[in-house]
Amino acid sequence: MTTAAAPSFDPCDPVGVAQALIRCPSVTPEDGGALGVLEAALAPLGFVCHRLRFEEEGTAPVDNLYARLGTEGPNFCFAGHTDVVPPGELKGWSIDPFAAEIHNGRLYGRGAVDMKGAIAAFVAAAARFVKEGGTPKGSISLLITGDEEGVAINGTRKVLDWLQAKGETLDACVVGEPTNPKALGDMIKIGRRGSMTAFLTVHGAQGHVAYPHLADNPLPRLARMLAAITAEPLDAGTPHFQPSNLELTTIDVGNPAHNVIPAQGKATLNIRFNDLHTADTLLAWLRERLDRVGGSYELDHFVSGDSFLTPPGPLTELVADAAERVTGRRPEYSTTGGTSDARFIKNFCPVVEFGLVGQTMHKVDEHTALDDLTRLTDIYGEVLRNVFDRIG
Ligand SMILES: [Zn+2]
Repeated sequence: MTTAAAPSFDPCDPVGVAQALIRCPSVTPEDGGALGVLEAALAPLGFVCHRLRFEEEGTAPVDNLYARLGTEGPNFCFAGHTDVVPPGELKGWSIDPFAAEIHNGRLYGRGAVDMKGAIAAFVAAAARFVKEGGTPKGSISLLITGDEEGVAINGTRKVLDWLQAKGETLDACVVGEPTNPKALGDMIKIGRRGSMTAFLTVHGAQGHVAYPHLADNPLPRLARMLAAITAEPLDAGTPHFQPSNLELTTIDVGNPAHNVIPAQGKATLNIRFNDLHTADTLLAWLRERLDRVGGSYELDHFVSGDSFLTPPGPLTELVADAAERVTGRRPEYSTTGGTSDARFIKNFCPVVEFGLVGQTMHKVDEHTALDDLTRLTDIYGEVLRNVFDRIG
């Protein structure tokens, strides 16, 4: 538990909180003071704050924050990350990426939409809830990591393990990633496809091209294997997911000689997969086709996330209703896009993602409309007012 100095901003004002966060240069894995800003806002509201620093050999230490208001269940959690991707070439920006300047009704800066803006909206919603005398019929918590845009080893996953070891449970979670493609209220993410990268090495025996009987060329087998795994689609999609897709990303032999049969050929592929598959079933699917071609090969793999789905129900309806009440638009439920830390949280409780408009995320001149920041605060406030009746 830590104590924090009084904040220099009004926690009820999402713009002030967002500016304070953006002014912390928290490029992964640096914290830059960002979690201190949150503690300063949350502790006076009654949140008990835990700063959690994790490190592992070969990785940089990362600071995380778990803050909870209340001790009773159910525990509604808002999750997000204060780390940001690097600004890149500064001359590409028209303003300082860490100055948090406002121009023409927009707040500019790295992390404005991905996702310090949403965290600020959540803090402001919680602050207003508390100041208006709202008492949660349960607990409100924030799980904020500094390791989402990086390797994600010392972040959300380890905080969840820490919570589990302490006997803390989460009952429902909203992740504030920028989910709206064009306008606030467009889209709630209710799941994500999984991602697996596989590395295929086909072995043969090196030799002179003029004496092929003394060698074993692996390349025709590699070509047949790649043809076999790309000949048919993995599936046709499911009610909430688009079809899985397998993409070859590179084929490597690296043989500079025109008269040498190489000893091996390699290929790498990535599969974005829906809820019909797991990494294990995909590996079996691949091996079945590779074995049909035969010969000696190795297949290594790396899973960056399994697919998951929070089926439409109380949590998805709660967030959709809140978004519709504020924006007048009913968000579409979607499972498109890349992975997020929701892939870890889904093992603990139902989780959906809803945040700002994502158009400028990871780009130069990243910005959010101030109006979106205000309305997102209203949406999260609406969620807080209704969540305990709907998920309890
Ligand atoms: Zn993000």
